[in-house]
Amino acid sequence: MQLDISRRDFLKLCGGTAAMLGLSQAWVPQIARALEQAAERPPVIWLAFQGCSGCLESLAKAAYPDIATIVLDVISLNYVDVLMAPSGKRAEKSLEDTVAAGGYITIVEGAVATGIPEAMTIAGKTSEEIVKEVTAGGAATVCVGTCSSYGGVQAMRPNPTGAKGVGEVIGEDKVINVPGCPANPDTMVSTIVSYLLFGKAPELDSRGRPTFAFSQKIHDHCERRAHFDSGHYVEEYGSEEETKGYCLYKMGCKGPETHSPCPLTLWNSKQNWCIGCGNGCIGCMEPDFWDEFAGFYDTLPDTPIPGFVGVKTSADYVGSTLVTATVAGIGIHAIASAAKGRFKEADDAGEGSDD
Ligand code: SF4
Ligand code: SF4
Repeated sequence: MQLDISRRDFLKLCGGTAAMLGLSQAWVPQIARALEQAAERPPVIWLAFQGCSGCLESLAKAAYPDIATIVLDVISLNYVDVLMAPSGKRAEKSLEDTVAAGGYITIVEGAVATGIPEAMTIAGKTSEEIVKEVTAGGAATVCVGTCSSYGGVQAMRPNPTGAKGVGEVIGEDKVINVPGCPANPDTMVSTIVSYLLFGKAPELDSRGRPTFAFSQKIHDHCERRAHFDSGHYVEEYGSEEETKGYCLYKMGCKGPETHSPCPLTLWNSKQNWCIGCGNGCIGCMEPDFWDEFAGFYDTLPDTPIPGFVGVKTSADYVGSTLVTATVAGIGIHAIASAAKGRFKEADDAGEGSDD
């Protein structure tokens, strides 16, 4: 594959991808070789169903590699109906030709309408018909965003259109889920590059998410974690505690229950992220977060004590008891342990295992 970017930029792309995938920088030459030696850019079909197009916009904000590099040098984006220049029959011909040729990656954004199928149609076909037809002949299916992964806001109770995630429609073992509202551009790109590099889906957790990105919780890497451990909380916006950057747990932060690499990847060209901006995490990477985590400013009823997975306690308990433990010489960070999800082999439809 001929890449039209400088060698320096190309290696930076490979270095960033290696870091995201949890690989050492020693992998950079192999990533570079995999991309350079690919016979041709892999064809990609981007299907947009019930959603807000926020994930496509998020990908357009990818900092490294940027959207031009992704579209022009890394993949061949053959069909994306909300963005492509052709329309009508010419657009649909691009879809048909790509499906007929095979070997493509299907990226899906938005939920599938199964209860009221006509709520989501393109070129006279329902979203359920399209997703079944297109994904059946593809090499891999990547669901970007919480809507295509798990239904998203459309599936929020009472779910009037019967919105479902793609995995629910074609089989959970046939999808790679990259949730988020929107999905993080770095995670999306790294998932695609991982597939190109290894020729198979990355290791996934029990909800179909790549473990390289979703095996740890927001809480594990949050810059306010020391305040949580010390019992320093914001209890009112506009307060002195807020200006000191105290923990947002009591302001409704769902970071202790949310699996996501946001504190590491950041957002908007790595400028900042939700908690860095002063708002608690609303848990947008978790399945059913619209129902499970509403209201967004309500305090979680309880949260895991670091190091004692499965044991729940209140923030007040953490604020008093764990500080005592620290004084007693027990290093909180030394015992902190991330609760990991169930894992399964990426290309194996068999059972995962708890750890
Ligand atoms: S509760 Fe939220 S703000 Fe506080 S440390 Fe955890 S993730 Fe950060
Ligand atoms: S910090 Fe929480 S709400 Fe913000 S993008 Fe990450 S998972 Fe979503």
